[in-house]
Amino acid sequence: MKWEDNVRKVVPYTPGEQPKNKDVIKLNTNENPYPPSPGVKRAIEEMEPEKMRLYPAFPEQTELAEALAGYYQIGREQIFIGDGSDDVLSLAFMTFFQSGKPILFPDITYSFYDVWADLYKVPYETRALDEHFCIRAEDYMQPNGGVIFPNPNAPTGVLLGLDEVEKMIAANRDVVVIVDEAYIDFGGVSCLPLIHKYDNLLVVQTFSKSRSMAGMRIGYAMGSPKLIKYINDVKYSVNSYTMNYAALQLGVEAVKDTVYFKESCEKIMHTRDRAEKELTRLGFTFPKSYGNFIFASHVRVPAQEIFERLKENDIYVRYWNKERIHNYMRITIGTDEQMEALYRALEKICM
Ligand SMILES: *Cc1c(COP(=O)(O)O)cnc(C)c1O
Repeated sequence: MKWEDNVRKVVPYTPGEQPKNKDVIKLNTNENPYPPSPGVKRAIEEMEPEKMRLYPAFPEQTELAEALAGYYQIGREQIFIGDGSDDVLSLAFMTFFQSGKPILFPDITYSFYDVWADLYKVPYETRALDEHFCIRAEDYMQPNGGVIFPNPNAPTGVLLGLDEVEKMIAANRDVVVIVDEAYIDFGGVSCLPLIHKYDNLLVVQTFSKSRSMAGMRIGYAMGSPKLIKYINDVKYSVNSYTMNYAALQLGVEAVKDTVYFKESCEKIMHTRDRAEKELTRLGFTFPKSYGNFIFASHVRVPAQEIFERLKENDIYVRYWNKERIHNYMRITIGTDEQMEALYRALEKICM
């Protein structure tokens, strides 16, 4: 079959399972266990279907852009909004990684990066994390076509200090450096202030984790007005109107309610502190996590076995049968009640 030779073939990203059974304790996709801010519920009740006749506004001209720019104290021309950070990152790959030289990212990282690189035919090389799962800034200082990494990293939760992040940006002034800060609100320090100093830095964040709105699909990128203009031009050349009316309206409420936002991040960090103690008691080791998850390995019981036994008990965590990490599982921080159920199950499996 001739035509098949000329098809763009990709191996798609595999997301964590979304089980139909509602009783499952879902600790496998880093969703927030708490609902979005009460203002979001109110705004849903006040939504006007009449407004859905119209095409939505371009995202950068919306109240959401204004709210985000206000929250981060940056200009509206420094912010790009998209359909979840996956959409933002995919567009950023398309826009910024065009040199033909290999881009660099860690060997253990968000498993969508190599998928986009393959899809857009961007050559890439990975750099091994050190034995503590830390990114070594020096590894990113050779000539390259761009750099991307999550901070904190996924699925390890390891945070790279701001000084190291800046070193990586400063050493790569002739390419775009993308810092994927999907989990930065759980105790990390954002490199956002550096966008004023480095016009080649793009900082990407999302409403999916810390703002409890994975289902609404809102992500955003912040950078120099130049970078933002380039990504907007590509966005509006692919499909301009992807941000829907509801997402644009409800996102504003989530940004406005800073008290609720901070409280729910605090709650998760508090539960994470307790999880560190409980998992240690149960015989797990893990790098210190700055995400809403813990990447843990048991001293005796193989991770795959724990993963499967937990699943039989309707507790879902994430497991990858991949080199270097096949004896680890990633446990999303749930509510205190969900975590208690997890510890009880682990006691039976591991003790
Ligand atoms: C969850 C996640 C994303 C994507 O989140 P969206 O739901 O598309 O906003 C991006 N990067 C990392 C590292 C993530 O863990």
